[in-house]
Amino acid sequence: MDYQTSIKELKGIGEKNGALFHKLHIDTLYDLLTFFPRAYESYPALTEATGSDHDKRVAVFATLKSEPKLTHIKKYQILSFIASDEKDQCFHVRIFNMPYLKKTLHAGQRYVFYGKMTQGTDHLSMDQPKLFKPEEYFRMLEGYFPIYPCTKGLSNETIRKYIRMAYEILEEQIRDPFPDDLIQKRGFPSYRDMVRIMHNPDSMDEVFRAKKRLAYEEFFFFLLSIRQNESGQVKKTEVNCFQKYEEVDAFIAALPFKLTDSQLRAWKEIEQDLCSHAICNRLVQGDVGCGKTMIAILALYSCVLNGKQGALMAPTEVLAQQHFQSITEMTKQYGLPFRIALLTGSVKAKDKKQIYAGLSDGTVNLVIGTHALLEEPVVFRDLGLVVTDEQHRFGVRQRAVLHAKGQDVHTIVMSATPIPRSLAMILYGGMNVSTIPELPAHRLPIKNAVVDIGYRKSAYHFMKQQIKEGRQIYIICPMVEAGISEDLENVEEYAEKIRPFFDETVRIAVLHGKMKGTDKNRILNEFASHEIDILVSTTVVEVGINVPNATVMMIENAERFGLAALHQLRGRVGRGRYQSYCIFVDSTASEKSKKRLDILGRTNDGFEIANADLRMRGPGELSGTLQSGDAGFVYADLYDDADMLYLANEDIGTLITDDPLLEDASHMGLRQKWMEYTEHGYKLKKSPSLENDTFT
Ligand code: ADP
Ligand code: MG
Repeated sequence: MDYQTSIKELKGIGEKNGALFHKLHIDTLYDLLTFFPRAYESYPALTEATGSDHDKRVAVFATLKSEPKLTHIKKYQILSFIASDEKDQCFHVRIFNMPYLKKTLHAGQRYVFYGKMTQGTDHLSMDQPKLFKPEEYFRMLEGYFPIYPCTKGLSNETIRKYIRMAYEILEEQIRDPFPDDLIQKRGFPSYRDMVRIMHNPDSMDEVFRAKKRLAYEEFFFFLLSIRQNESGQVKKTEVNCFQKYEEVDAFIAALPFKLTDSQLRAWKEIEQDLCSHAICNRLVQGDVGCGKTMIAILALYSCVLNGKQGALMAPTEVLAQQHFQSITEMTKQYGLPFRIALLTGSVKAKDKKQIYAGLSDGTVNLVIGTHALLEEPVVFRDLGLVVTDEQHRFGVRQRAVLHAKGQDVHTIVMSATPIPRSLAMILYGGMNVSTIPELPAHRLPIKNAVVDIGYRKSAYHFMKQQIKEGRQIYIICPMVEAGISEDLENVEEYAEKIRPFFDETVRIAVLHGKMKGTDKNRILNEFASHEIDILVSTTVVEVGINVPNATVMMIENAERFGLAALHQLRGRVGRGRYQSYCIFVDSTASEKSKKRLDILGRTNDGFEIANADLRMRGPGELSGTLQSGDAGFVYADLYDDADMLYLANEDIGTLITDDPLLEDASHMGLRQKWMEYTEHGYKLKKSPSLENDTFT
């Protein structure tokens, strides 16, 4: 057996399990081995039986005082009994829908009860605890348990079992793709250690080191791919040189707002590129809400005035739709010459054909879409400009595909993940950079609070008032549904949990990435048209959604997200004329986590956050285990792991000078991984993040 052996060769995996694993993109033993957890769980030390008002789970060593009784209420079968701790403190226990436990549980037995202890009016109680034999629990106290991204029907335990099996089979065969001297120089764990640590760590410090290596590798291959596409110098063009049109200036003057100075500067820089025989290749980076779309529209306007076609590519269907709507409105309002089409995955085949025809004969001069624009039948009559929004979601190769659909096509990419200039220079290799460091003037800065879970009730109270005033609310949870990791909030249960706090007239809805595309769009549209007051969502709302009437965002388990992701999420509020608020709920009591989140509390400036975060990072507690994947990276967070980006950049510089084609014998492993990367990418293979907006 080797890396490529099918998992179906493992004892116990048949057609059914195999199909479930396939859903997680796991087909070979290698896939299993590199399917890394998205979080780790550790169990708390034993305590006495007392109620804890914070939703925290406790572990109590206790004895069954009574023989369990089985009752039926509605569809539930409830097993109930009384237990008491070492000091004879009693508590009531209820276990739902596991009637068979009646056979194993008996008065006098001793277990560790792990769960939430609540203080009722006259007694303590614990519902649905996990029961452990004492020896078993003591063993667990010493370790950290990996939590894998699961799929329905495939439990964490099952995944863990087969990963362990794969590791045992392959252990001796695991080779490090990176040359030894490089690994030693950077002080990384070996590849085998890294794999072992990720699945079965002894400490969180170890995990931190292993994750750094993963981030490094991811950056490494990403940078290698841009280095190979990079030409280094500005290319000249004869066929695609634009002329200046006064109409653009007239349009700017007619807008209901004045462009900010930096918007104007960015536009002038782009116009300069477009009209100077150079092929424009420019990154426009600016914080969420700074008005990048306007810049794109100006450039596309100029393109169409020059008789060419333009394309605007967005990473999600929702975002593409939003652009389509607002640009269509503007076209009517200002009599712009756009003949627009919207091309996304969910457009019907018949309509698609019509759009293809319009693009190839030129009746459509502006197409807005998702990666459906990259498909083969999309042929332009004369493509002049491609703008990609939130470009970090697209691979370099995808951009190249679109670029190749015309001759000397101008490229503008827009990014809302603000990064220090030094990082931008690395990540966007050959590109020129325009930065928009300011927000439009009249915006009120978002007010922030970093709080613990005890603050929730006051937060709901505050939301009630905001809703009374006609505003809307986002609540973000990391999980879709209840999972093994009980400490993380999930949207489904959360929406039910908060229901009693609000009047019946308050409309609460749930949104997550596992919903069907059409359902997702429906919910987002309903939220946009104020048919929903509170949207309980995962990070799918992260990219570009614009609902200016939403003024409160509360992020649960904020400690689990990368700072870059949190900052992006927060950008969903503070987009209109109302004062907006962001509440970061930190469910740990850790100083470190608080300090980190406090950066977000102090400032709304993405550039400053990036810089501050780079300064304060250091080994220690693992942060941002739940990456949103927003920056297009699966394991790496641009802020948290920026140090690895610098190192990878440096190492690639040396590598490309010494052995550009990776032909040296010591680079065989690298070369192989590199080929794998160019074929699948990291992202397509699998994502350990909980919720990734999938391309539709
Ligand atoms: P982002 O940079 O995050 O993509 P958008 O382009 O979506 O931001 O702009 C956010 C909002 O600000 C939009 O409603 C847009 O019309 C508005 N806007 C853009 N430029 C200005 C400006 N100079 N003054 C006021 N509002 C502006
Ligand atoms: Mg935008």
